[in-house]
Amino acid sequence: MIYFYNTLTKKEEEFKPINNDEVGIYTCGPTVYWFAHVGNLRTYIFEDILKRVLMLNGYKVKHVMNITDVGHLTSDSDSGEDKLEKGARAEKKTVWEVAQFYTNRFLKDIKMLNIGDPTILVKATDTIKEQIDLIKILEEKGYTYIISDGVYFDTSKLEKYGRLWGDKEKTELRGRIEEVKEKKHPTDFALWKFSPKDEKRQMEWESPWGIGFPGWHTECVVMSLENLGIPFDIHCGGIDHVSIHHTNEIAQAEAAYGKMMSNYWMHGEFLNVKEGKMSKSLGNIITVSNLLEKGISPLAYRYLCLNTHYRQKLTFSDESLSFAQTTLEKLYEKASELAKETEMPISEKAKDYENRFLSIISNDLDVPVALAMMWDMLKDKNISGYEKYYLLVQFDKVFGLKIKEAVFDKDEFASDRIIIQKITEEGLIAWSRDMNDVPAGIIDMVEKRNLSRENKDWQESDNIRNVISEQGWIIEDRNEQVLLKKKVQI
Ligand SMILES: [Zn+2]
Repeated sequence: MIYFYNTLTKKEEEFKPINNDEVGIYTCGPTVYWFAHVGNLRTYIFEDILKRVLMLNGYKVKHVMNITDVGHLTSDSDSGEDKLEKGARAEKKTVWEVAQFYTNRFLKDIKMLNIGDPTILVKATDTIKEQIDLIKILEEKGYTYIISDGVYFDTSKLEKYGRLWGDKEKTELRGRIEEVKEKKHPTDFALWKFSPKDEKRQMEWESPWGIGFPGWHTECVVMSLENLGIPFDIHCGGIDHVSIHHTNEIAQAEAAYGKMMSNYWMHGEFLNVKEGKMSKSLGNIITVSNLLEKGISPLAYRYLCLNTHYRQKLTFSDESLSFAQTTLEKLYEKASELAKETEMPISEKAKDYENRFLSIISNDLDVPVALAMMWDMLKDKNISGYEKYYLLVQFDKVFGLKIKEAVFDKDEFASDRIIIQKITEEGLIAWSRDMNDVPAGIIDMVEKRNLSRENKDWQESDNIRNVISEQGWIIEDRNEQVLLKKKVQI
């Protein structure tokens, strides 16, 4: 049995799919005007874990995700500029070029984080006709009104508006979305925005109401229901979508079709930095490419995320990230040792671990407890080395840390003083002893630094480390060995 916390009912519920063979999931995708930061990516990792847990429980998953390439304004309500149009102007590119570039980068990022691709990926701009059709239905049913800047949804017409809200949203949201002065009610939202009269937008379409573009909340209703039907099983997203975006998706679907669009609503919590939120406007974002520049594998970031339950806030720091990387390396080393053991039948005791694992992760995706159990299992003297490796590979079907792929022959490096570490295109940590990959000057400096360390000249050792860093290499001491990593640029 699987249990999930459902934001709609505010409690943990047994998961009962609509169709026993296949579970339908919709997850809100990226707005492709800039790089995704690790806070955004935490949500996609949580959703990937959800899919893996469903699959381990024997379900097929049909996963639909959107690419928001139009209509997401700089504020989540209805004021400000379209993020894509603004981004394109800043980069002196067309909106279409910007959207394509950041879509490609996003897909590369999720690949390096070992996040599985959605079954169906849809661009908002490919469903404009369907979005207009939905707005027409809402208009026919009397839920819309027109003001100078667009067509709006009248939230007062829907008795159950705000069904996802908790007490906090109920009190705070009153009067919150007030930037558009002509709106009848503060919570009313745009379905179709007119192009500004004094400037030509790069992306705009004809509609029965005038030239313009769809509001952000409409696209997700169209793309989910077109591909999954109504209702479907699970709708996911970041916790910041509860108060406005998902609330307004539900409102449109209920008004148009008289049904709740999805049975379960699941939301991933924020990732914070010490100072608070990570966001582009605060200038403190960290991207996958920033991780690679620090010699950190995106899979180490994934491991870091696994240590905190998806409904808990996660505070991100360089220290926790480095710690995650060394812990992951230890796990790979351990797996590499165990992988050499001779195959043998799996005992009841090992099967018991497998069953416990399934019940832990099926309890609202309790990955932190499952990880703790994995480390206990590795210390258990009552199961064999082969069984431990077998269990690691089983658990990794959910963790997604590429344990099997990361197995390497540790003995091969035992007598080397310098080891080269690389992060591959798949996000894997790879080991090499091929010094041809490293400029001779760097090797000389490493040797010089080793000498200064033997002489306990820490100042000199630090100076050399900095020079090496300036030349694009990171140096780390591991017991008697030195690890050399190239700062990767993508
Ligand atoms: Zn959405």
